[in-house]
Amino acid sequence: MSMVTIDTKAGRRRYEDIVQEFHALIRNGDLEHGARLPSERALAEQFKVSRSSVREAIRSLELQGLVVTKRGSGTFINTEDLDSIVALLASTLSSGPGSPDTLDDIFEVRHVLEPQISAMAALRASPEEIEGMAQILEEQERQIADGQTGVDADTAFHFSLATATHNAALVKVVSAVEDILRRSRNQALQTPGRPLRSLASHRRILESIKNRDSEGALRSMDHHLAVVEPAEISSIQSSAINAQPEG
Ligand SMILES: [Zn+2]
Repeated sequence: MSMVTIDTKAGRRRYEDIVQEFHALIRNGDLEHGARLPSERALAEQFKVSRSSVREAIRSLELQGLVVTKRGSGTFINTEDLDSIVALLASTLSSGPGSPDTLDDIFEVRHVLEPQISAMAALRASPEEIEGMAQILEEQERQIADGQTGVDADTAFHFSLATATHNAALVKVVSAVEDILRRSRNQALQTPGRPLRSLASHRRILESIKNRDSEGALRSMDHHLAVVEPAEISSIQSSAINAQPEG
């Protein structure tokens, strides 16, 4: 490995460290909504990094909605938007990446939320949204027939249910959790038979939603998460231990 690669990695870690440090300061209440950030130069000195790392960190915080720059008056902490609340939630959930405990915990969050989301979607989804869900499942079938895992369609299906609740906060929370689970799910869906079982299970959920059967939608999502998907978690754990001989 060349020196350049090592330096680049260290540089990237440094800017991500600053972002995480800000997350922690905000979570702990050390930085409150409306607090004004020190100058770029002062922050660079405080964190002992280059000004360009500070700039990159602030840009990243800005994209997360956690800071707002006001021309001429400075950069301020913002924790009152839905976007910033979700960014903090996601950073809390993803701290300790790759830890099986964390994945189990996140999976539990899904299991608390998604059956209820499914029930709400059965009552609130528009005909167009239901048509969109059917198309996603057709796409999932195509992806599987092509020998793919179908993870993109799988993620899209769960997201379409959240969207159909017409509750913006639920949509954001689910997307934060999905982002974290997506990668591991892709790996787990490579277990033979799992993609097709997942598709069949999605079809039962959609059937209930089409019938406006909220209790059925709740039960089939619960089954999906209790029987079809949890094996993914243990397969992630064992593949981590066995270091995956092949892709
Ligand atoms: Zn699924």
